[in-house]
Amino acid sequence: MQYISTRDRTRSFRASQAIARGLAEDGGLMTPAYFPKLPGTALKELSGMSYQQRAVYVMKLFLDEFSIKELSEFSAAAYGPDRFDTPAVAPVRALNGDTFCLELWHGPTCAFKDMALQMLPHLLTASLVKIEEEKTVCILVATSGDTGKGALEGFKDVPRTRILVFYPKNGVSAVQELQMVTQEGQNVGVCSVRGNFDDAQTGVKQLFSDEGLRERLARQGYFLSSANSINWGRVLPQIVYYISAYCDLLRDGRVAEGQKINVCVPTGNFGNILAAFYAREMGVPIDRLICASNSNNVLTDFIRSGVYDRNRPFYNTDSPSMDILISSNLERLLLALTQNDQEVRDYMAQLSACGRYQVSDRVREKLQKLFAGYCCDDQGTRARIGAVYQEYDYLIDPHTAVAFDALEQYRRETGDMTPAVVVSTASPFKFCGSVLEALGVKEQALGLNILDQLSEKTGQPAPEPLSSLRGKPVRFSQTVDRDGMLAAVLGMLE
Ligand SMILES: *Cc1c(COP(=O)(O)O)cnc(C)c1O
Repeated sequence: MQYISTRDRTRSFRASQAIARGLAEDGGLMTPAYFPKLPGTALKELSGMSYQQRAVYVMKLFLDEFSIKELSEFSAAAYGPDRFDTPAVAPVRALNGDTFCLELWHGPTCAFKDMALQMLPHLLTASLVKIEEEKTVCILVATSGDTGKGALEGFKDVPRTRILVFYPKNGVSAVQELQMVTQEGQNVGVCSVRGNFDDAQTGVKQLFSDEGLRERLARQGYFLSSANSINWGRVLPQIVYYISAYCDLLRDGRVAEGQKINVCVPTGNFGNILAAFYAREMGVPIDRLICASNSNNVLTDFIRSGVYDRNRPFYNTDSPSMDILISSNLERLLLALTQNDQEVRDYMAQLSACGRYQVSDRVREKLQKLFAGYCCDDQGTRARIGAVYQEYDYLIDPHTAVAFDALEQYRRETGDMTPAVVVSTASPFKFCGSVLEALGVKEQALGLNILDQLSEKTGQPAPEPLSSLRGKPVRFSQTVDRDGMLAAVLGMLE
């Protein structure tokens, strides 16, 4: 399998190079040159297998440099019972005959980032060996919450890796902050930055482009890398759960062989829904992809008009992991729809020059045939948490609620009652404040007591990784200005 840059098809790379580099030198994203089709009997066969086995099967199609033995070890380690609280790993829950929920938050940080970030460290360290890179990889992450903790857990104590996470001092929830500052592991570092997520992100980007730092770290035996959602090593593990979800529906007699489903995904950087699109390309019977956004609805507008325009106000919402105006992974979809790297390069040049581009009519028509876009504000999100709880006795987090609301809008508007899989990206216990408010609880407990409050209100236990935060010692308390991030990196690596 060859990989190419979304902005230049002429140079090709091996999978290990694509994963080790993350980004191509031309700024494009490393992407498979083609998508293998699943053989006719594959879904049926995979239905009888475990999640770990399904992951090996799917990843092998894209990673021919890796042996089945290697991938099986990675899969067992990443998705084992010490990491995930259910043997199904990514279970599909039936809410009624045609509405299903794919729960992606049974991992160590209770959010869907675990699905990829538990696998990425294995793929990355093995890729570095294959490209004969002998230095220790140093991962730098700027996070608005879920990615940082997911990366810390994924890379924790993985040999020949260091992981340093920067988060905005006032930009993450209390539970999210506690999750990070109590992080265990010998190779981890966490530091907060005064300012918002953009400050932390800009700071990390500057570190990446700092040649002096790169050389200095190289002398100390470090190789700088990132774990962000554009790395192919994160997209690939996400394709697995869409294939797995269909297999579960098939196994449980919820759909007949070949029967179409729709998929509805709460979207930020477009990584999760892109994986659904790739599963569809590979032959999973997915009809429409419903793209759900919060008030930062740049994707809703794009799907409806063919115009991507980031020049708009930014909102901090109840679904913070979707508060994004530049959906980086969209570039890969553009390549798939245009089949033209020159055209992708032009759109991306316009995006960086003026924050806006308009796709051709041909691309827009293809886009609209595949995708439907809907958005939902905080008020709608809370109402939807309440409605789903009432109707199905099922508790969902704000990100998942945005998706449920989008599905409802889609069904009302189109009358299309095709069985739908709604993707659930976080445990409601990660966002107790907004969930309790949605359930009508105004007086909220402080700190981690809010977990108990939500438990008592709903009769559901908080996930162990969150309840066990209580009593864990705080290991990291450094706060720096953006100017202080370089010194913080050097300090943490000492
Ligand atoms: C990251 C995240 C999303 C958005 O996923 P993308 O791949 O960026 O579209 C949605 N929900 C939660 C809880 C997340 O952590």
